[in-house]
Amino acid sequence: MKIPKPKLPLYQQIIIAVAAGILYGLFLPRWTGCVGWMGVIFLRLLKMVAVPLVFFLIISSIAGAGKTRNLGALGLKTILFYCGTTLLAILTGITLVTLLQPGRGVDLGDAAQLPDSILDAAPKSLSQILIEIVPDNPAGAFMRQEMLAIVFMAILLGAVLSRTRGEKSELLVRFFDAGSELLMNITELVIRLAPLGVFGLIASQIGGVEGGPGQLLRLGGSLGIYTLTVISGLGFHMLVTMSVILFLFRLRPMAHLRKMFLTLITGFSTATSNATIPVSLDLLEKEEGVSKETASFVVPLGATVNMNGTSLYECVVVLFLAQAHGMEMNFVQMVTIVLTALLSAIGTAGIPMASLVMITIILGAVGLPLDGLGLILIVDRFLDMLRTVVNVYGDTCCAVCIAKTEGEKLTIDRAAGE
Ligand code: ASP
Repeated sequence: MKIPKPKLPLYQQIIIAVAAGILYGLFLPRWTGCVGWMGVIFLRLLKMVAVPLVFFLIISSIAGAGKTRNLGALGLKTILFYCGTTLLAILTGITLVTLLQPGRGVDLGDAAQLPDSILDAAPKSLSQILIEIVPDNPAGAFMRQEMLAIVFMAILLGAVLSRTRGEKSELLVRFFDAGSELLMNITELVIRLAPLGVFGLIASQIGGVEGGPGQLLRLGGSLGIYTLTVISGLGFHMLVTMSVILFLFRLRPMAHLRKMFLTLITGFSTATSNATIPVSLDLLEKEEGVSKETASFVVPLGATVNMNGTSLYECVVVLFLAQAHGMEMNFVQMVTIVLTALLSAIGTAGIPMASLVMITIILGAVGLPLDGLGLILIVDRFLDMLRTVVNVYGDTCCAVCIAKTEGEKLTIDRAAGE
């Protein structure tokens, strides 16, 4: 199906939508219900398409690529990239929190009660998280949208299909090919609606802040240095570290940032990595020339296991609370924080506020009490939106770097020019 292209480039449409959403939220906060539904429907469409798209795309690309590409090497490179960048993010967080000392002198007596959803969520052990990658009930995995288990099933099916010959397996490969093409077309349609959806989401986010954005600033101010530490860490990782990495791979960081703008805005306005998967897949393929095989392998995996922003955030929170408790961290505790933050990124779901449960695990691992965590809830929603942006940006950076090493022709290649 041919979908007509609008005249204005997508990122310009999104900039206009964001600006309009901010103005609407600021000046008509009582009327956000009139436009908020557009954002809700956009988010539901993305979630609707994400799981089947990931499933079909992975099977069809692995079944097709399995014969020609070394999937083991692709997987290893992806995991190394994810571990490396997550480690860099963690080190950035630790450095900043040690330099700025946001927790020194903070009174934890003001901390709000933690919501039941967090207190009741029994944290899973790491081994449990790894075991649950293999689903015992495929239908249950789909119903609960367990992305890691879905990715696992799709890789397995695709790999077996690529090694099976005969008419029937050819038929199956064609079925998954056709299905993934159909779902990509639906994704493209959804992306055409993105300006309206983003407008609705931003307007309701801005308009929905109790007491208006001024209140948000005041609250942010009371946790000022803490908020600043998180924001500067996230900003540094996204704009400096990732740019240097892209540069080293001979890619153009600014062009990549611009082309991924819709993914970033979707991550920001929904605080949900999972919802950005269809958008990232479409943009990486159509705008940057990443192959379907690479993108469909790297992006869904990244949305679930690669959380640069989240792991940075988790470290800052834990060290902030340690400082507020007047507790000096020894070397072993520091290493524990780094390792648990690195590994917990795998277990953090790509949904809003998922990292709070993981933070309770890290606090337990270094022997810190949970009280005080309620304090950071004041600014958590806003920081969640920002760390989701960094999470999804890391996935797209990995996709283009891996594509480059696989010899794919990218529009953001320094050698290519546009
Ligand atoms: N909201 C984040 C994401 O979806 C996860 C988290 O840090 O809570 O990537």
